[in-house]
Amino acid sequence: MNEKIIDGKKISLERKELLKEKIAKLSSKLTLVVISVGDNPASKVYVGQKEKMAQEVGYNFKNLHFDVITTSDLIKEIEELNKDSSITGIIVQLPLPSNIDKDKVLNSVSSLKDVDGLTNNSLLKLVKNEHSLIPCTPKGVMTLLDSYKIDVIGKRIVIVGRSELVGLPLFHLLLHRNATVTLCHSKTKDLKSYTREADILIVAVGKKGLITKDMVKDNAIIIDVGINRVDGKLYGDVDAACIDKASLMTPVPGGVGPMTVISLMENVYEAGK
Ligand code: NAD
Repeated sequence: MNEKIIDGKKISLERKELLKEKIAKLSSKLTLVVISVGDNPASKVYVGQKEKMAQEVGYNFKNLHFDVITTSDLIKEIEELNKDSSITGIIVQLPLPSNIDKDKVLNSVSSLKDVDGLTNNSLLKLVKNEHSLIPCTPKGVMTLLDSYKIDVIGKRIVIVGRSELVGLPLFHLLLHRNATVTLCHSKTKDLKSYTREADILIVAVGKKGLITKDMVKDNAIIIDVGINRVDGKLYGDVDAACIDKASLMTPVPGGVGPMTVISLMENVYEAGK
């Protein structure tokens, strides 16, 4: 069964070593800033993971934390960071507290420093196939496909989930690579009729086991982006039994997850250039 696994953990570790070598050759250290607001416990964990990885690859890391702040004051802080030439990349850790206008704040990040690739500017460039910083999870998925030499040209690709974070950018990235892409979502009728036709099935919904064996084409390649924590254990959106029918499939954990983090680090390097 192992030869069917798309090993995101292994690929991410290989890329981390390559990145470290490139970073070591730079004349000055790059700096990643993560802005966080409030006391979301999950956010603290994610910021901690980013700090650990940033330091491991050789970046400076700063966490600019505010217990409470207004939208306009937060934007002022971001504008200062935009102007500061010692700062390479800026991340606004989500979720933000409900008093803050998330879109306004995200869009105040300079597209040159937008290492999460979440500003309107970055999304527009991605849609138009212009050079931009690509959101980390879609970038990680594309890297996995490339690492396993999966040719997407002319392939039928079905993406389930249309979020701006994952499904929507992937739709455009794959379209630019000349795949025939269908984007399904919560209002899609008869989801199975689409997924069963997919040469490559990418699922980013957040519902454990949404995709079952009967919904998968023989020899399909399956990329499971979903992360669902149930009783302390992590599950994807795709039932593990689907691997019987698949030719290749990402595990959860150890598939797309590690690729997201390394993609962020690669974006910081890219922004530094
Ligand atoms: P989201 O809630 O923003 O979007 C979910 C999407 O799923 C929506 O487009 C919705 O229309 C669609 N959907 C909901 N129910 C559906 C159904 N029954 N059938 C078809 N489509 C349905 O979520 P998101 O931020 O895109 O994240 C999706 C999943 O991916 C989550 O489990 C999240 O934890 C995970 N995720 C993983 C990584 C990673 O690094 N591996 C990164 C980001 C998100």
